[in-house]
Amino acid sequence: MLKVFKARAGGNGSGRSRSGRGKAAVTFAARLAVDGVSRRYDQTLALDDVSLEVEPGKILCLLGPSGCGKTTLLRIIAGVEAPSSGSVLIDGQEVAGPNRFVPPEKRGVGLMFQDFALFPHLTILDNVAFGLRSLTKQQAQAEAYAALERVGLGDYERDYPHILSGGQQQRVALARAIAPRPGIVLMDEPFSGLDSQLRESMREETLAIIRESRATCIVVTHDSEEAMRMGDVIALMRDGRVVQTGPAPELYRTPKDLFAARTFSDLNELPARVQGGRAETALGTFAASDFVDGTEVIVCVRQGGIRLLKPGEGTLGRVLDTRFLGDVGLLEIAVEGHEGPILARVRAADMPVRGDELGVGVDEGGVLVFPARND
Ligand code: ADP
Repeated sequence: MLKVFKARAGGNGSGRSRSGRGKAAVTFAARLAVDGVSRRYDQTLALDDVSLEVEPGKILCLLGPSGCGKTTLLRIIAGVEAPSSGSVLIDGQEVAGPNRFVPPEKRGVGLMFQDFALFPHLTILDNVAFGLRSLTKQQAQAEAYAALERVGLGDYERDYPHILSGGQQQRVALARAIAPRPGIVLMDEPFSGLDSQLRESMREETLAIIRESRATCIVVTHDSEEAMRMGDVIALMRDGRVVQTGPAPELYRTPKDLFAARTFSDLNELPARVQGGRAETALGTFAASDFVDGTEVIVCVRQGGIRLLKPGEGTLGRVLDTRFLGDVGLLEIAVEGHEGPILARVRAADMPVRGDELGVGVDEGGVLVFPARND
């Protein structure tokens, strides 16, 4: 069996060249709205008044730390869980809410979970055909085969899941999710079981297949870079609530609070008190006109927003440590008046050496000021 697998697996492990792939069946993308949804489990308020809208054909990434309610929201949209209050609408029709509960199989929603959840006793084709029970067996197998072709695994139709690599199992799970041509595809941490290189290529392929299928898609992730790469829109969650929704550049450039800023950037955080609309820190004084005098704030300076100057310019600093990270270098710099090192990311070519004295400046465009109490 292993020999057969190897012979067919080809150079990229996909079992087929890219050109040999089929096209994803085209879907009518659905508009999704989540309106004031809460979900309580005994003492835990897993979701607290969550509202979201996803335009047809767009990809929304639900981003947030473990336990913030992402999976619960996905399960409620899928219909495997009911909200305690609020409603879910697909194309304007209530599918969950005070007056209605449409079962999962009637919602036109495809699901792809973290562990792929393939049935070991079914062939790969039957795994994909599993969600196509409203069709005749022949039709279901034809549709399943087309979906398998699309993910490059048509040759494996008669095999069983155990012979597949992790990436291939992920493709089968994707084929199964898109085979019924759902208007909405929901993915829960779909790449977290894969190693980092495979994750990258699977992410790109999955994105291409989802775009081609034209389904509306929600992807759950706790990885901000993944969310920025995949999402047309990102909904950042914390403690059961949506903190901020928007395209990646908006969340990166204008995060609503310190939590959102920390999610998208590596920051230096300098505490300060506002005086005359400005916040004075060890790295200089910055505009803080939105705050009344006396407010305790945190001035955030992105690690990439630190500028290295000649000694005598900016704030005097001494290089404590340097790390080579490829294109960039990470520096730890001691500056007077700030406890702990300032971290700076600079072009590797511009790296000073440990012990160097230099001036430290700040790119003012990259400075964010938040109230300290938001921490
Ligand atoms: P995430 O997907 O962001 O990691 P979850 O949606 O899984 O978060 O969980 C949100 C919160 O709800 C957590 O505190 C979790 O413990 C709780 N929770 C989720 N499902 C259940 C359940 N079936 N019973 C009790 N608590 C649950």
